[in-house]
Amino acid sequence: MIRSLCVYCGSSNGADPAFAEATRELARACVEREIRVVYGGAQVGLMGLLADTALEAGGTVIGVIPQALIDREIGHRGLTELHVVGSMHERKALMAELADGFVALPGGVGTLEELVEVYTWSQLGLHRKPLGLLNVSGYYDGLAAFLDHAVREQFLRPEHRAVLAVESQPDALLDRLERAEPPRLVNWLNPSRV
Ligand code: AMP
Repeated sequence: MIRSLCVYCGSSNGADPAFAEATRELARACVEREIRVVYGGAQVGLMGLLADTALEAGGTVIGVIPQALIDREIGHRGLTELHVVGSMHERKALMAELADGFVALPGGVGTLEELVEVYTWSQLGLHRKPLGLLNVSGYYDGLAAFLDHAVREQFLRPEHRAVLAVESQPDALLDRLERAEPPRLVNWLNPSRV
């Protein structure tokens, strides 16, 4: 069961209107499932749209924003809770702590960095929360193909590749995250044994 979902997404809207539509669908799907939304606390781009849609639908939205970004990304003033923190590192740590699952919507390098960091934390066994990529209109095809390439080249273990669910529809992705088995913990001294 996911009670709080951390959503990473662009501080821009992107070119394809499908990105905004998928953001709204994910926000509404979370509210229908009584899942709180945890996100970066901004009012701009897909981030703002995610928060506004979930709030309009009657949901709970928790933002986490560094003081230095409040002006640039325009801190959202209507959230259920807004945590103002001292740094990007604190933002990511608190977002991860407040959530029991993670989804990346389309976004730029900020979104990618946040997703990849929490993905590496899973690989290291620092958490066992499910992770997903919402591949709207094939936006993340290149990333999914790169990860498959990393598995073939033996830089990424197949079981760690499998931890990142990739779906094109918000409901299908939430279903997968809610059903996901927690990843096996790896014994780093002897990876063939847990
Ligand atoms: P973007 O996907 O580049 O539009 O950025 C989405 C969000 O990620 C924005 O709130 C950025 O402030 C945030 N972001 C960008 N770089 C980082 C970083 N290194 N650590 C944490 N958040 C970041």
